[in-house]
Amino acid sequence: MRLDKFGVGWLLALFFAVGLVSCASPTVLPSDVTPAPLIAVTHTAAESTPTLTLFTPTPEVTESPSLPIQLLAYTIDAVYDAGQKKVEVTQLIQFTNPSTQPLSEIMLVTEPNRFANGFNLNRLENQITGEALDWELQRNLLQVTLKEPLSFQEPIAILAEYVLQLPPIPPPSDTSKPQIYGYTQRQTNLVDWYLWLPPYDDETGWIVHPPSFFGEYTVYPLADFEVRFEVINSPREVVVAASTSPVQQSQNRWEYRFDSARNFAISISPYFLIEEAQVDGVKISHYYFPLYRRQGEVVLQHTVRAYQLYSQLFGELPRQSISAVQADFLDGMEFDGLFFLSKGFYDLYDGTDKGYLTLITVHETAHQWWYGVVANDQARHPWLDEALCTYAERLYYERFFPELMDWWWFYRVNFYQPQGVIDLPVYDYGGYLAYRDAVYLRGALFLEELRKALGDEQFFDGLKRYYGENSGKIATPIDFFNAFEMSKAEIEKVTQSFFAAMP
Ligand SMILES: [Zn+2]
Repeated sequence: MRLDKFGVGWLLALFFAVGLVSCASPTVLPSDVTPAPLIAVTHTAAESTPTLTLFTPTPEVTESPSLPIQLLAYTIDAVYDAGQKKVEVTQLIQFTNPSTQPLSEIMLVTEPNRFANGFNLNRLENQITGEALDWELQRNLLQVTLKEPLSFQEPIAILAEYVLQLPPIPPPSDTSKPQIYGYTQRQTNLVDWYLWLPPYDDETGWIVHPPSFFGEYTVYPLADFEVRFEVINSPREVVVAASTSPVQQSQNRWEYRFDSARNFAISISPYFLIEEAQVDGVKISHYYFPLYRRQGEVVLQHTVRAYQLYSQLFGELPRQSISAVQADFLDGMEFDGLFFLSKGFYDLYDGTDKGYLTLITVHETAHQWWYGVVANDQARHPWLDEALCTYAERLYYERFFPELMDWWWFYRVNFYQPQGVIDLPVYDYGGYLAYRDAVYLRGALFLEELRKALGDEQFFDGLKRYYGENSGKIATPIDFFNAFEMSKAEIEKVTQSFFAAMP
């Protein structure tokens, strides 16, 4: 199928074929789904049996952090049993008190616990004192209570042992968000799979948000990762894609170091083929399934070119590798150093760059700058990374396919006649389409307006400054506008038809 003269039938076919996409693209999610009550588990070191209580999350949104967390480091030893679909994990979490006040409650994000029997904690202790820790598990949060509060800048090392039972990735559905974490017949994905420490704000506390029905809600402080990963009980040799290249590798064991990163994702398959390129000392890899050789080269080529363009336009990327991974689910999603591309885009690839395979490859590549290096609170300010990554598609087409610029604006943005203000929290849009239209599509229109108002030189200088000043940080809309050195009146003028409130 080709998209000659913007064929609407093709667009509709694409809608149904690619299903629900949360990072980068189309389709509908119900906005009126009410969350089911959740099971919470409480455990004190003195008790032998956990007690069960019911817990319903309240979608409250807290402020962004003012203080970076110092010395956050994860050391993870994980053994994946490919037959049982289980991961046994021993993890050390080291950090200093991120608050200027004594701190007696520590939150650890535990996403695998959102799945039935998905997370079983066997041991939790303060490695420095050797004492068992009291904990309470509520959906995706493990709350640890310290008997003695951590004093200002005091370090702690939490040792955890747990078992993950991976969930199957369900087939595409019109009523639920595509699931990335878990396994299919040909792929296993570990994303947000370990315990991780959220950012902390002195005024509002831990920055954790309830899961959203569309879009993202996680906020990651920088951390150093040391990961040892082993695969056992696999009838076939597997290929492992990860957020960075291994420093050591044997047949079924991989060892990684990933410093100053947001997260660590892994995708495993016995079927992956790999296309690789070295660009300026950075290894760019594309992991894809057999029968997609043509797409295998195309995705690699666009990732390489996008990497080169964005390095020039935004700034140098402090990473040693980027991995693009064909997803065995209908979604595109970014993680630090690794992104997934929906298999639907591969199936619909028609040999031209007028389609989602190219669009979303360069969109996801841009997330390495806007999400990875410069992070944002994805629940409170989703436009900060998504508008920039959608606009990065425009910049890519402008540079490499100027003849397709009109096509891009029509196909990607104007066809949908997008409405809505761009600066709301992810929870405040009535459904996925309203969210996408406002945050992604009008987000790109807003950046185009900003560019017109400032002129190219000031606009691109501002983007570079925003990147440079906020590298490694969790940026806010105020940081964004500060980088463009605009007066209050100028900001008001350019934001008035796009924002609900002045940033
Ligand atoms: Zn995105």
